[in-house]
Amino acid sequence: MFKVNDNYLKLPGSYLFSTIGKKVNAYSAAHPDKKIIRLGIGDVTQPLAPAIIDALHGAVDEMGKAETFHGYAPDLGYEFLRNAIAENDYKARGCDIAPDEIFVSDGAKCDCGNIQEIFSLDNKIAVCDPVYPVYVDSNVMAGRTGTYDPKSETWSDVIYMPCLAENGFAPELPKETPDLIYLCFPNNPTGATITKAQLQEWVDYANKVGAVILYDAAYEAYISEPDVPHSIYECEGARTCAIEFRSFSKNAGFTGVRLGFTVIPKDLKSGDVSLHALWARRHGTKYNGAPYIVQRAGEAVYSAAGKAQLKEQVAYYMNNAHYILNGLKEAGFTVSGGVNAPYIWLKAPNGMTSWEFFDYLLENVNVVGTPGSGFGPSGEHYFRLTAFGSYENTVEAVNRLKKIRL
Ligand code: PLP
Repeated sequence: MFKVNDNYLKLPGSYLFSTIGKKVNAYSAAHPDKKIIRLGIGDVTQPLAPAIIDALHGAVDEMGKAETFHGYAPDLGYEFLRNAIAENDYKARGCDIAPDEIFVSDGAKCDCGNIQEIFSLDNKIAVCDPVYPVYVDSNVMAGRTGTYDPKSETWSDVIYMPCLAENGFAPELPKETPDLIYLCFPNNPTGATITKAQLQEWVDYANKVGAVILYDAAYEAYISEPDVPHSIYECEGARTCAIEFRSFSKNAGFTGVRLGFTVIPKDLKSGDVSLHALWARRHGTKYNGAPYIVQRAGEAVYSAAGKAQLKEQVAYYMNNAHYILNGLKEAGFTVSGGVNAPYIWLKAPNGMTSWEFFDYLLENVNVVGTPGSGFGPSGEHYFRLTAFGSYENTVEAVNRLKKIRL
């Protein structure tokens, strides 16, 4: 009889978004006249920018002619896209990253989840708490996290780095030495960032202890403050200790188009084994390349017209973020995030748990957000709102929140 990978059986059910969905559906079935505003899920709502649509149309037409048809893409991505990424995301920011250190993929989620495959099962991971769940769950599936304690909602072999108001939602260097350190800035779910000086401390630490930083910069386009790094390679020494994940989902609205990339510098080695070579082997074996059409759309993100249009799109969402942040501050809520990220992290008032506040908002003002406890134990008593809705809905949601009297 076959056996399953029983690491999967250790995974606690991921009830967060399904529980939210069930509660919202039940409420709207009981109150069909109520207009519910959803500021919960981190998906974009604005249509693709015209420069991207033009590139998609052009590439579709190319695929219809024998002379310009494209089959399998190169494993690591087309050169036109890798050159554009190296030039615009790295060289223009003073980072030393070559096009052949960039691996194009269909998004950051797969890469963040798959990267752990090239590391030994003996490695110990460190994660922020609260955290984007993919980092932990992918290591659970691999069998790297030990046993789960439902009471504390933690794994025995994972180092948790609490990100709380007291530390500005920035992790502190862990007491126990990790091998793999997952960092995500600007952060999902807290919307927090760290300065270049703070990130440099992590790079120095990782180089000192021989750890790898797995740096998720999916929300890089939302950075507005000058001392916040856009890439970990802005830090000295990052080439020997860091892998960076990027996505086209949030800067260009590609959540349904699918494109991302991972950077592995050739200087990043374990002894004389290059992680770049291992990931190239893995990519070549298990992945057949992002579609030509989509990579052409990705190239358009870096065109003059694309850049201008996407700047406006990001500004649209950030205008929502500021509206939420300022409106809730005025109303007396304790709020953070929303300055360099499309997420607002809100303290549930009067000691309510995250889920109590969720129910309260759904029933009293018909606004849906995400309970912070769904992202880890240190997210308890917090609540995430996203700036990805329409401006009109955002304004209405904030006005409703301002009216609540607890
Ligand atoms: N990383 C973080 C922190 C995210 O919040 C998300 C999506 O919400 C992703 C990665 C996934 O990005 P992609 O759509 O490129 O898979």
